[in-house]
Amino acid sequence: MSHQLSPLLTRHLPGAVAEYRRMKIAVLAPPWLPVPPTGYGGIESVVSLLCERLVHRGHQVTLFAAPGSRSSASVHEVLELCHPDEIGRALYEADHVARVFRAVEDAARSHPGFDVIHDHSGFMALAMADRIATPLVHTLHGPFEPATSRFYRQHADKAHIVAISQAQRASAPPGVPIAEVIPNPIDVAAWPFQPDKDNYLLWLGRMHETKGPHRAIAAAREAGVPLVLAGPVQPGQESFFQAEVAKHVDGDRVRYVGEVGGRHKADLIAHARALLMPITWNEPFGMVMVEALSCGTPVISFAQGAATEIVREGVTGFLVRDEQAMGAAVARLPELDPRNCRADVARRFSVDQVAAAYEGAYRRAGARTALLPSHPVGVTMTGPVRSAARGQLAPTAG
Ligand code: UDP
Repeated sequence: MSHQLSPLLTRHLPGAVAEYRRMKIAVLAPPWLPVPPTGYGGIESVVSLLCERLVHRGHQVTLFAAPGSRSSASVHEVLELCHPDEIGRALYEADHVARVFRAVEDAARSHPGFDVIHDHSGFMALAMADRIATPLVHTLHGPFEPATSRFYRQHADKAHIVAISQAQRASAPPGVPIAEVIPNPIDVAAWPFQPDKDNYLLWLGRMHETKGPHRAIAAAREAGVPLVLAGPVQPGQESFFQAEVAKHVDGDRVRYVGEVGGRHKADLIAHARALLMPITWNEPFGMVMVEALSCGTPVISFAQGAATEIVREGVTGFLVRDEQAMGAAVARLPELDPRNCRADVARRFSVDQVAAAYEGAYRRAGARTALLPSHPVGVTMTGPVRSAARGQLAPTAG
């Protein structure tokens, strides 16, 4: 790690800790969408919030991201185009990551190089993390499924792995070393607080079976309250949308407003009586839940994944079993105080807390790499060297 901050600077940095050290951080966003996103984009909004706060806390941050990205960090647009309709395509992810690794190695040749790479970009950077000397912190943004579990069993020990909820950590297969859990952040002050609600329920997300827009329709019908559905129909989701959602949209009891962003999205969330989350997957985090709670909008969710950590039963929402119970829980919404919803997420998921936690993760990732045999800065390490050294490492803090 580099550069002790001057006492003067430390005094003027809110949240700066006594043992503060300024770090040079390369944040690696995915190649698909700009940071912050204009509409859909949970990972991109997390990356945006974190970069802003790390800069605010005095770090030197370079954000490697898709074109059109904006940040107080120094922005390096990696590819020539965004690829919103080709999410996951290896052609673009490989190109994106290889260019970033090259830039990080070039920086290492001119002192000082980056202290750490914080990777949010998918699979490529982690798989190749033992080919670059700079320590890498990898935030897990997706669920463990059979294919991703095999991938992480093979590659997770190449980096400092951060889970975004206890539920996600608990679902990690044996042999996948999760170093720590750091939840996603939310800037509560950026969301409008609205205690007076209009008479509709909201579902907001990708039109995917596991997110349950069709189950939200059934639950709202059960409750006898109109439903607004918002979110993109991404490539591959068209037939599900047609078969399960579109036929119920009548512009009155069930309205579909498409993908939303900006002030329109915030108002839609803030005025809803509740956000419905009839999820049937191990939701790794669920940014929409903390966004809704920030606005004072309770969340009624199936008791799956991180919903069981984010929703406080009977305080900020309800955890239910099925559509019937979800519909019935709507009648209990008056028991909840919107002020508690906002206060609870402000207390538990503030950007400052999350940025401070990542500073710790960056230091631990650096300490872990320092245990490896010494190597010239900027020289890419070979796989066998790192593999042999890994056996000697102490387990990272949990
Ligand atoms: N979102 C949006 N417009 C939409 C639908 C979703 O801006 O029409 C945003 C939503 O506010 C959230 C993100 O996309 O910030 C979705 O993230 P989440 O973690 O909830 O879901 P996932 O990453 O699993 O899709």
